[in-house]
Amino acid sequence: MLGYDELKAAFQQLSLANKPVIAHASLQPFGYIHNGADTVLQALLDSVKSLIMPTFTYKTMITPEVGPPNNGITYGAEKDLNKMAQSFTADMPADPMMGILPESLRNHPAAKRTAHPILSFAGIAADLELGTQTLYEPFAPIGALAEQDGWVVLINVDHSVNTSIHYGEKLAGRRQFIRWAVMDNRIIECPSFPGDSSGFNAIASYIKPDTRRVDMGEAFIQAVSLQRLFQAVHELIQIDPMALLCHRTDCERCNAVRNIE
Ligand SMILES: [Zn+2]
Repeated sequence: MLGYDELKAAFQQLSLANKPVIAHASLQPFGYIHNGADTVLQALLDSVKSLIMPTFTYKTMITPEVGPPNNGITYGAEKDLNKMAQSFTADMPADPMMGILPESLRNHPAAKRTAHPILSFAGIAADLELGTQTLYEPFAPIGALAEQDGWVVLINVDHSVNTSIHYGEKLAGRRQFIRWAVMDNRIIECPSFPGDSSGFNAIASYIKPDTRRVDMGEAFIQAVSLQRLFQAVHELIQIDPMALLCHRTDCERCNAVRNIE
């Protein structure tokens, strides 16, 4: 059975004690851990300089009847979901799709959270990075992390959940989208919404030489620097403008990118 000491030893093998970090996690492959998410969070916090995680909230989203073209969306298609949309509040839990670690971070007494109605981040000791987010630049905190030699840590997950690749795509000039969300009884237009991430794992072999990895039975932790990651995304898109897109023929956002590039 894994505990704080084993987890901390594993995180420390990544040698990120002086680095700000963005993390993504699935805890299930660790098996049973006493105080599960809080124990993993503490072991991670004690092994890095600062930590942010996405605490995205998709249930705030609205699909309008009409909107700009080539936006990777079917307008008017989500009438029932629109009725269930909830107005964003600072204490709205992160979407369950993100796993339970972001909730553990968000609920930590030292944590702060940004106020983007869909793409918020929570963080500890990361006020500077969190403070860079705007409605127009939702992933600016990831850019701010990169400027300080930040790293991404993937805990039992692959690059298909690596949000930072979205920011790399934007930096490489790839099309972004517009989405809408409810907040303060208004519908807020949210530009720079990212594309689909289900094809992102194609980057794994390309950055393998620059990836630190610790295996623990079924479980694993991997880490790569954000600067190297952005550089790799740029290189892959230069080689192939369709790089990192998924292969589903009905994927609206990947198809929108294909039409443009
Ligand atoms: Zn896709």
